[in-house]
Amino acid sequence: MTIGTQLSPSHRDLAARLASRGDELRALLQRSARMDDDAQAEVTDFKDAAAEETQAVIDEAATSHAVLELEQVDSALRRLREGTYGLCLDCGEPIDERRLAALPATPLCTDCQVLREHLGSPRR
Ligand SMILES: [Zn+2]
Repeated sequence: MTIGTQLSPSHRDLAARLASRGDELRALLQRSARMDDDAQAEVTDFKDAAAEETQAVIDEAATSHAVLELEQVDSALRRLREGTYGLCLDCGEPIDERRLAALPATPLCTDCQVLREHLGSPRR
């Protein structure tokens, strides 16, 4: 995959990190899809059914987290190609470079992220 050469060096670096993170997540999801297929056959490998169930819950949480993260990574890569990467999806302001370095796939600036966590939390 080629991403525009107009990217700044720091964005090129983030693009490379996002691309390899995307590959990682896709591999992880493929593995977990295969594990679901094999789950019946491998039950005898687990001594403790409760522990197995706990593991399944953890796997499920990790998988749904990976799906969400992959969506963020893919849309960040799309924004890199479109030249809108680094701008907050909610307010359109540039996202702090340090935040991007720590969370290359984030679609939101710190302010909007905090706002969303306070307002629209689906957990409540
Ligand atoms: Zn914002």
